[in-house]
Amino acid sequence: MAIINRNYARLQAGYLFPEIGRRAREFQAKNPDAKIMRLGIGNTTEPLTPCVVAGLHKGVDLLAEVKTYTGYGDEQGETALREALAERYAAYGASVDADEVFVSDGAKPDSANIQSIFDATNVVAVQDPAYPVYVDSNVIAGRSGSGESGQYEGFVYMPCTADNGFFPDVPTRKVDLIYICSPNNPTGAVATHDQLRQFVDYALTRKAVILFDSAYAAFISDPSLPRSIYEIEGAKRCAIEINSFSKEAGFTGVRLGWTVVPKELVCEDAEPGQLHRLWFRRQTTMFNGASNVVQKGGLAALSDKGQAECKKVIDYYMRNAATIRDGLENIGLTCYGGVNAPYVWMRTPGGMKSWEFFDKLLGEAHVVCTPGSGFGPSGEGYVRLSAFGHAQDIAQAVESIQKNLKI
Ligand SMILES: *Cc1c(COP(=O)(O)O)cnc(C)c1O
Repeated sequence: MAIINRNYARLQAGYLFPEIGRRAREFQAKNPDAKIMRLGIGNTTEPLTPCVVAGLHKGVDLLAEVKTYTGYGDEQGETALREALAERYAAYGASVDADEVFVSDGAKPDSANIQSIFDATNVVAVQDPAYPVYVDSNVIAGRSGSGESGQYEGFVYMPCTADNGFFPDVPTRKVDLIYICSPNNPTGAVATHDQLRQFVDYALTRKAVILFDSAYAAFISDPSLPRSIYEIEGAKRCAIEINSFSKEAGFTGVRLGWTVVPKELVCEDAEPGQLHRLWFRRQTTMFNGASNVVQKGGLAALSDKGQAECKKVIDYYMRNAATIRDGLENIGLTCYGGVNAPYVWMRTPGGMKSWEFFDKLLGEAHVVCTPGSGFGPSGEGYVRLSAFGHAQDIAQAVESIQKNLKI
């Protein structure tokens, strides 16, 4: 007699993006002549750069010859790739050993899976609003109570509001696993060194572990902001960092990411090295490595030429972010983010609910946004606008908002 994992039943119904799609389709069916413009989904749109494409081609060519063919690769990922990633941390002023890097097929799976090396009784703290996988993976693993009130019982929500600059204070009660995303999806806020230091100090004192998602680190242009949590003294004893080539190099469909589990990392009942070994065990048991072709593409992206090319694409997206932010501020809307992250976090006018404004923006300007309430209770009253898209489409959407939105 098989029984399903009943934790799935606790997940709040109606995942955000399907509901956005449903409302957009419904609007289109009623208004067949309307041209719907999208500022909604966080998906890259610009092509891979020439250097990355050459790297991927090389990866394929190697597989075509008996002398250079390879099957399963090194368990943690190609050494050259892990060394190149370690060098990047050195350039940030952080010290990460290539042995501490685990190459993967993306930051979302790693963010979902990392909780599995921790006990079910750990108390989870998340930023509110947050990228949904941190909460949902822990619900599925059975760490939550009911989510019927809009917040899961048992989780600690750390509100990120205009008052605290969209970065939370450290929890006042004891929590064990702390998810931080900086630069943040959805708010576009970036934690400062001081803000991260407070969390590192908290984690070291309470023997908690920080799970730091830095998928947008490459979008930081302000040199005073940290691009890795390991820029903070002591972070290697209390933090795991997860990152990805998805947004930085357009690998959303190609799939490549990495997770750093430092050897010094400890928690309540783990000696140095133990958590590193657990993640090694988890990955070698449940995951068979990132594609060898794709790893060649990643290596190319990390070369000087690759980095220069990727930077141009990032600059392109960040010009889109400025188009959105400036365009909306010009008509009196209040915007946050969009400077060191490709998301603009907009306060809805007149205290409207997120979904109410979503319908208004779609109805009047034919523009799709992402309702902030879909990322957590503190996202209510905001919408997320994404800078991913072709520049002319973004400009057109902003123009339509300026012309047609009645505020
Ligand atoms: C897009 C995104 C990722 C990237 O996930 P991949 O699986 O590597 O594509 C990770 N974290 C956040 C917060 C993101 O927005």
